[in-house]
Amino acid sequence: MRVRPAVLVLRIAASLVLVAAITFICFRVIPVNATTAGFAYLLGILAIAATWGLIESSIASVAAMLCFNFFFLPPVGMFTIADPQNWVALFAFLATALVASHLSDREKKQAEEAKGRQRETEQLYALSRAILLTDPSQSVGSQAARHISEIFDCPGVALYDAKTSEVFRGGPDDLLDIEGKLKQVAVQGNNFVEPPLFVAAILLGGKPIGSLALKGSSLSDGALQALLNLVAIALERVRTEEAANRADAARQSEEFKSTLLDAIAHEFKTPLTSIKAASTSLLSDSPALSPQFRELVAIIDEETDRMNQLVTEAVRMSQIDAGKIRLERESLDVAALLARVVEHFEPLAAGRPLRVNASPNLPRVSADAELLSLALRQLIDNALKYSPPGSPIGVVADLEGDRVVIRVHDRGPGIPQRERERIFDKFYRRGSGKDRVPGTGLGLYIAREILRTHGGDLWIEGEPGEGSEFCAGLPVPKEGRTK
Ligand code: ADP
Repeated sequence: MRVRPAVLVLRIAASLVLVAAITFICFRVIPVNATTAGFAYLLGILAIAATWGLIESSIASVAAMLCFNFFFLPPVGMFTIADPQNWVALFAFLATALVASHLSDREKKQAEEAKGRQRETEQLYALSRAILLTDPSQSVGSQAARHISEIFDCPGVALYDAKTSEVFRGGPDDLLDIEGKLKQVAVQGNNFVEPPLFVAAILLGGKPIGSLALKGSSLSDGALQALLNLVAIALERVRTEEAANRADAARQSEEFKSTLLDAIAHEFKTPLTSIKAASTSLLSDSPALSPQFRELVAIIDEETDRMNQLVTEAVRMSQIDAGKIRLERESLDVAALLARVVEHFEPLAAGRPLRVNASPNLPRVSADAELLSLALRQLIDNALKYSPPGSPIGVVADLEGDRVVIRVHDRGPGIPQRERERIFDKFYRRGSGKDRVPGTGLGLYIAREILRTHGGDLWIEGEPGEGSEFCAGLPVPKEGRTK
């Protein structure tokens, strides 16, 4: 702790008065011999060193030496020394006084340091408690700045959060012009010291996430570092909590969307089933229908199918987004599954060659039969939709490394390289205009999510201009990897 000059002068004067008082007592009041006087001076000097410090006690030592020489060493009343032995006594006295002063002063400083460290530890503990108990309804930054000012007795505190670019203040001194400095320190990561102002970067994992300005604080370097670490943890905690809240809100909103869509889908499906039944029966049971009416009913029939598919896909999508897809895995024979899926397309393929080629002895995969069929149906349906009428469609299944890959190949326009990722996005559809084949842009998204939920993937291969090749890869359980 630094002492103000006026106080120092007063203390020196008081020390000199004490030396004068000892001299007076030992010389006039109770006359004593030189040895006793020497001890009395030493005691006084020790008391000064223990109470005030080295400067005061050193000056008192010199004054005491002069008085000792003048009043107690023969010839008394003069500064000269007759007996050379007394020179030794005089210097021994001065040396003892100075060494004792120094030791006593060091002891005092160490005690003060220990007290200071204990106080800082208590303050840091109080701050960590306050940070843990922050009120979530208020900004953590402003609470932290206020606590730092109160706990560390710091008149000016400003805390800068680089993520939100906000500055929080605590203490009576508003540090009005500090914002620029705070931002500079937060960007550069270097501390700025101009007593009584101190601005330090708040680092987390070596990266600056803000800065802290303290005005008039007397914290040690160690305590300051601990304080900065505590503030970094507080800011990071808020961020983690915010992210968790956002994720929770997003999950809840997805769940809500999925439940709502489920409900809407149910409401849609009932009338759609009735419309479909009516149109189908009109088409098959009313031979007297005029061609014009027949065409109109056929449109109703087709559009009902489309709406049905739309509703089913929207529900599926929301289930995927809400993480609601549950796999009912079983051990599946891929060739048999493919045969069933292709059988479903035979009436729809309108005589188009739909060739399936599953390599013999394919290992079984562990998958949800219904969901996997849905994904494969989607690929074959697209191949039929997006390739010229009459062109062949090929479905090949083979073991490639540690997975079974099912490739669906068509002779359509293919997918340009730059769109091979985007095509799996929700609602993404290629092309535009009237001649666009009807669809929702959800089919590939759903198919890929189904494969990924199985631990596999869906991707595109083949050269553009040679048709499309969609590849669905499924992992093979370890025990089934030998062909
Ligand atoms: P939808 O078929 O309902 O539009 P998808 O997600 O199944 O939605 O497909 C997204 C887009 O990818 C389609 O709009 C289409 O442009 C393109 N696409 C899908 N499969 C093929 C294919 N086999 N050949 C060419 N383009 C395709």
